[in-house]
Amino acid sequence: MSLTVSNLSFSYGTAPVLQNVSFSLGEGQLYALLGANGAGKTTLFRCILGLNEKYEGSIIVDGSEVRSLTPRQLSHRIAYIPQIHYPAFQYSVLEMVLMGTTHRLSAVASPGKWENNDALQALQTLGIEHLAHRDYGKLSGGEQQMVLIARALVQQTKLLLMDEPTASLDYGNQLRVLYAVRRLARDGYTILLSTHNPQHALSYADRVIALAGGTLAADGPTQEVLSPALLKTLYGVEAVFSSDGRYILPQEVL
Ligand code: ATP
Repeated sequence: MSLTVSNLSFSYGTAPVLQNVSFSLGEGQLYALLGANGAGKTTLFRCILGLNEKYEGSIIVDGSEVRSLTPRQLSHRIAYIPQIHYPAFQYSVLEMVLMGTTHRLSAVASPGKWENNDALQALQTLGIEHLAHRDYGKLSGGEQQMVLIARALVQQTKLLLMDEPTASLDYGNQLRVLYAVRRLARDGYTILLSTHNPQHALSYADRVIALAGGTLAADGPTQEVLSPALLKTLYGVEAVFSSDGRYILPQEVL
């Protein structure tokens, strides 16, 4: 499953938000999407998900232009994993995960044995099958994020978009989620994950895509492009890297 964004520009009204953004995602790689508040990360996600249709340029997923696909066709190609949220109704974990199978069913069908097995399999892949019959709303934030990832896995697409999956998680759960996501990439998933923590990108991502003011500021292997200069450009932060290159050490921030 491939994604190629070419000369993508998008405006809300007259204000340009994305300008001539081009990159492609290769298979089995974890991409960190970096950028300051307002840089255009969510807008980029919305374009890729067909929600901002009036973009210029092209977004080709698996050979098709995104805006030419119906939502159902798109959900066979891309799974979106939102930040944790609380559903209006009470659902078990299994029911939440089964929601990821609805695009495979006809309008009147309910999930059956196949879908149930797939949902349990997805929970197993993430090591959370013991949660299957718990009330989703009563799980910890880290567990809920894992359930939302499981829901994406049953969509049976290999392209996952993740919107700040570690936001609002404690330190341990941030690492657990990132570790699980990296394992999925090793299993062949292509993942574009937005994050406000460049250390997460440095520790977990194969490649970095960075936006600054709606333009592409970097696109390349993490070790090559994630540099003190890029952190200065993106966040106005002076930083050095540890001598082994594994840790970002911010300097005084004014
Ligand atoms: P954050 O990290 O804070 O979530 P972001 O990188 O996701 O930010 P976007 O949400 O894509 O940034 O916003 C990019 C710009 O577009 C911002 O200036 C924002 O105010 C503007 N914007 C976003 N949504 C709309 C909208 N619906 N109408 C008008 N302007 C918008």
